[in-house]
Amino acid sequence: MDMADSAPSPLRQLPAVATLLASPQAVPLLEAHGRIATTDAIRAALEGARHALRSGAAAVPDIDALLVSARSQLEGRPASLRPVFNLTGTVLHTNLGRALLAEAAIAAATEAMRHPVALEYDLEEGARGERDDHVRELLRELTGAEDATLVNNNAAAVLLCLNTFALGHGAIVSRGELIEIGGAFRMPDIMARAGANMVEVGTTNRTHAADYRNAIDANTGLILKVHTSNYRIEGFTAEVSARDLAHMANTAGIPLLNDLGSGSLVDLSAYGVTREATVREAVAEGAHLVTFSGDKLLGGPQAGFIVGSRASIEAINRNPLKRALRVDKMRMAAIEATLRLYRDPDRLAERLPTLRFLARSRDDVAAQAGRLRDRVAAHLGETFRVEVGMCNSQVGSGALPLDTLPSAALQIHPNGSQRTLDELAAAWRGLPRPVIGRITDGALQLDLRCLDEADEHIFLSNLTGRA
Ligand SMILES: *Cc1c(COP(=O)(O)O)cnc(C)c1O
Repeated sequence: MDMADSAPSPLRQLPAVATLLASPQAVPLLEAHGRIATTDAIRAALEGARHALRSGAAAVPDIDALLVSARSQLEGRPASLRPVFNLTGTVLHTNLGRALLAEAAIAAATEAMRHPVALEYDLEEGARGERDDHVRELLRELTGAEDATLVNNNAAAVLLCLNTFALGHGAIVSRGELIEIGGAFRMPDIMARAGANMVEVGTTNRTHAADYRNAIDANTGLILKVHTSNYRIEGFTAEVSARDLAHMANTAGIPLLNDLGSGSLVDLSAYGVTREATVREAVAEGAHLVTFSGDKLLGGPQAGFIVGSRASIEAINRNPLKRALRVDKMRMAAIEATLRLYRDPDRLAERLPTLRFLARSRDDVAAQAGRLRDRVAAHLGETFRVEVGMCNSQVGSGALPLDTLPSAALQIHPNGSQRTLDELAAAWRGLPRPVIGRITDGALQLDLRCLDEADEHIFLSNLTGRA
């Protein structure tokens, strides 16, 4: 683009960044958004104007127009981590942040953010206290264990237990339990990083007591039992119960670590999912250490619980890695509040969103889909067909992988529309509050199980970009 010197290029007529920043119109932007963000937005507005001029736009925008464009950028840029609608049908969706917290937990975390808290301070003695003191009694009461500690997540809990008891020693595990959890949690890799020597016993489908017994030697650090959270081995199978393994471990003078994965503090069969052993039952079976997640079926924030014998927990607390894996005050507050709710089991489903979502009946979800169908159809127009269809939700996060929860969905078919399903899904993700559904059977399926009735109006106003 060679311009004659006598005719100044329209590009050169654009004001400089400094000129725009110094203009009176920039003052409110600087006040609201600060210098760095405002400068970035002004640069972006100038870049947009240059692009428009190069592609043939005739008018050079003035300072007002450029700052209006900068302002819309500043105000329109949503936070990266922001609320979405989880209409995937997976209640505990790891990529969407798993459990939603109870109001009591949210309030407690907020207070802990706003005020100093007695995080490691004993208010009776006026002396240093322990972080775990805030939940120790509750966990003893709810699980029957002698002692308890908390770390960043269940992966950290397993890592810490292995490192405490099997650093440079053997950790015996069944070949049927060498799990991989989504992401990068693979039991053999965690064992290696914990410094434990993995001693595999048995076969994929069958492991016997003798397999464990024959593997125990003077260098054995612990026996590990892992809940095969996200798969089932069916057919010709055999596994050794935690109770038998605990006996064996006791005889050998080593601990049994039982990684429950999701772990639940109450019998969940009342909420429409398969009954699994509770943490209390796992403790009663005699495991020296039991680990489980905070943000799976328990319905709290991300955390890893380790409960077990006093001696085992003391050894864990002496491990220097504990410090690197501990939880912060916000989560500690949210966890304490969540655990307190378990003292009133009758009202859990009202208070814990995870249980509330799991417990919803298909009829309830279908009635909601019926309420919303016409509004969504009206919004989408003629070229889409919106139907209420039946579907199955799942628990998610590897918990109860074979359970399906009968549910209902809005199924959007791009009838006669030029838009493909991928484009349709992308458009829903592009809403002010992104809506995440699932493409299945030629439709975009929005399973409404996790849409609270109280949020329906936000869901609808969101469609018109007014959320
Ligand atoms: C989910 C899970 C983990 C990892 O727990 P996070 O809390 O996600 O770190 C470990 N073990 C088992 C068996 C699991 O199901």
